[in-house]
Amino acid sequence: MRLSRYFIPTIKETPSEAQIVSHRLMLRAGLIRQSAAGIYTWLPLGLKVLKKIENIVREEQNRAGAHELLMPTIQSADLWQESGRYDDYGKEMLRIEDRHGRELLYGPTNEELITDIFRREVRSYRDLPLNLYHIQWKFRDEIRPRFGVMRGREFLMKDNYSFDLTAEEGVHSYNAMFVAYLRTFARLGLRAIPMKADTGPIGGDLSHEFIVLAETGESEVFFDKGFDAFEIPGEDVFDGDLQPIVDQWTSLYAATDEMHDVENPGVDMKNIQTGRGIEVGHIFFFGDKYSKPMGASVQGPEGDIVDVQMGSYGIGVSRLIGGIIEASHDDNGIIWPESVAPFKVGLMNLNVKNDECVETCDRLYKEFTAAGVEILYDDRKEGAGAKFADMDLIGLPWQVALGPRGLKSGMVELKNRATGEREEVAIDDIVARLS
Ligand code: ATP
Ligand code: MG
Repeated sequence: MRLSRYFIPTIKETPSEAQIVSHRLMLRAGLIRQSAAGIYTWLPLGLKVLKKIENIVREEQNRAGAHELLMPTIQSADLWQESGRYDDYGKEMLRIEDRHGRELLYGPTNEELITDIFRREVRSYRDLPLNLYHIQWKFRDEIRPRFGVMRGREFLMKDNYSFDLTAEEGVHSYNAMFVAYLRTFARLGLRAIPMKADTGPIGGDLSHEFIVLAETGESEVFFDKGFDAFEIPGEDVFDGDLQPIVDQWTSLYAATDEMHDVENPGVDMKNIQTGRGIEVGHIFFFGDKYSKPMGASVQGPEGDIVDVQMGSYGIGVSRLIGGIIEASHDDNGIIWPESVAPFKVGLMNLNVKNDECVETCDRLYKEFTAAGVEILYDDRKEGAGAKFADMDLIGLPWQVALGPRGLKSGMVELKNRATGEREEVAIDDIVARLS
């Protein structure tokens, strides 16, 4: 992509409305713009990152055996009246009336809708286990939307729902999601710790929140230092027994402030670290909480009718962008992990008035593109200082700079954004080096 023809409206000054660094950097690097309180437009660069995160989430869901579908954003109130949550959900739910006076709502989550799909389509235990997910916008009329995409009103969530015949099989589905989450967050360059959680309005008794550590996190967290030693499970684990992996990751103490206060006044704090955390995912196993009132049952092996055992699992896809930036930035800007970077390489022509610089950079741009490297080419008529500053701000993993001096010696300067290390690389070697 040629920057001169792209759309990255960067901002030099610090936006006064942003209280935390990820929100400031998302505005400054031209990723998002606010359109109303807690509601954002995703600009091209931000959308690219959002899609990359979405894809990693999708790959790990598929690997764990879940199937993607897409449910609508607008739901009928009837289903929520059936489950009993229409009134309980309160003011966080955005309620809408259509021209015929029918009550609708903008979905804050999808337990009711998926349970309705299930009860209409699935009749037999032979069709279980079943695990369905979608990646769809949600709306919650948060009392205090803040911190940009971290606590928005409209936000993108991956949510899925597991259906099993027995509680034991339901726990296996829960474990598969637990492991998929460990893998997903690791691939996003994040260290996320599973913490025992309160099940809140979703109900049930088995639940974990996945928490990323960051100074600006909304909750205080307590966790054992021993988590550092745990390995992320490999991609081939899903056919085997997942319980030992889950047992390991739940063997050490980890809790958010709420759980810490109720459950563990007696914890030995010797090995416990405290910090602040951002909730990026939440998983629940809640048995027949929705299947029973909504009649989601199947015929069991003995011909008996059994209410299915369900779980639900969320990942805050749009919140993750904020979480990644909180965990990975410096004074100059964002530092994207390669897995979610909008482009892998930023190529800078440091002197656009020099014909030879233009020719050589154009040639490198073509070669990078032909080699399948995602590249952003800063060919704008701007000074070298502005180009370096913008490149640091938007945080691409590799920067390649070429000016008249390098041209003479046949070298580009290659900088690793994360480590700051710079080296000279021969112009003719740079494409192969980064491919
Ligand atoms: P929180 O305690 O932060 O309000 P929650 O418990 O209400 O979260 P869930 O209903 O479990 O959240 O939703 C699943 C995931 O969706 C959360 O783990 C979080 O990452 C994300 N999420 C929830 N609310 C928001 C929001 N207002 N803005 C952005 N992401 C959100
Ligand atoms: Mg909430």
